[in-house]
Amino acid sequence: LGGAADHSAERVKVVVRVRPPHGSESGGAISVAPDNKGIVLYRDQSNVPQSGFEFDKVLREDASQADVFHAAVQPIVDDVMNGYNGTIMAYGQTGAGKTYTLSSVAPDNIGMMPRAAAAIFSEIEHDSSNVYTVVMSYIQIYMELLQDLLQPQNNDLQIREGEDGVFVAGVHEVEVEKVEDCLHLLQVGDRNRVFAFTALNAHSSRSHAIVMLTITKRPAAAPQNRALGQKVKVGKLFLVDLAGSERLKKSRSTGLRASEAVSINLSLTTLGMCINARADPNATHVPFRDSKLTRLLQESLGGNAKTSLVIAVANALQHVDETLQSLQFGSRAMRV
Ligand code: ADP
Ligand code: MG
Repeated sequence: LGGAADHSAERVKVVVRVRPPHGSESGGAISVAPDNKGIVLYRDQSNVPQSGFEFDKVLREDASQADVFHAAVQPIVDDVMNGYNGTIMAYGQTGAGKTYTLSSVAPDNIGMMPRAAAAIFSEIEHDSSNVYTVVMSYIQIYMELLQDLLQPQNNDLQIREGEDGVFVAGVHEVEVEKVEDCLHLLQVGDRNRVFAFTALNAHSSRSHAIVMLTITKRPAAAPQNRALGQKVKVGKLFLVDLAGSERLKKSRSTGLRASEAVSINLSLTTLGMCINARADPNATHVPFRDSKLTRLLQESLGGNAKTSLVIAVANALQHVDETLQSLQFGSRAMRV
């Protein structure tokens, strides 16, 4: 909380999470430095490094969900409770662990979304001098269309800009009072997501799923609060499960037309371009407006909100090319 004053100076925090190899995958593709910041990638068993990177934190294969929470989520929740916007984004190839990290609902392994909700409700419970409301929305972006996952018939929502910043016009917002409410909505949305993709004969790994929690904090109606002139504060938390970052040549076999392929990845490509532009001191233009995702997250990438980027990678020799690409993406984001 002490850092809130210095808010605009903060850069995107980049945390890498390594998942263990599974099935027929062979490990030995990754080693993590003792300081848990350095990571080295290997192409084969020869122990000749392919490339090395430094991040704010690298979480090894045996890291728990609680470790991820403390590294990437807790500080952001604290800020959101004080009226700032915060974003947690998971990036990586399909199968690298984005959804597991963000929204696992396994009771002994719950992900960042329910953990963030638990932290929010716990703080609310312990603060008797303020009155809070929390609302949740759940949307996805696919082929540059923004669909409400809680009201899936609304499949072309528009992003607008008002006095209080960017918002999704007409998005369904449900008031939530406990973690179970959030888990329920997550499941409802996920079911709708599966239906939508089955109907399209497509795969949800090509869409960006975004949970939004809006926390409104009002001083309790006590005279001393009014005397202090305390105001209503609104904080927004975005949890973003990005589309799989694997390059499209791999998915050509699915019979997509080129125009579809471009459209599917436009938001992810534009995210990369925005990060490059923000990382480049000489860049004069950041193309936030070129995609739905970057328009929505403009404030998260624009230096006025706290953002954590979790790069999910698999310790598997089979995936070294995609892992390298993901680490390079994360590395550029370290300069934002
Ligand atoms: P993505 O959302 O990036 O496509 P998933 O989160 O669905 O990937 O993960 C793919 C598989 O790997 C799932 O079966 C998941 O349970 C498993 N997995 C992911 N991350 C971990 C981890 N850190 N530890 C153990 N298993 C994991
Ligand atoms: Mg997933």
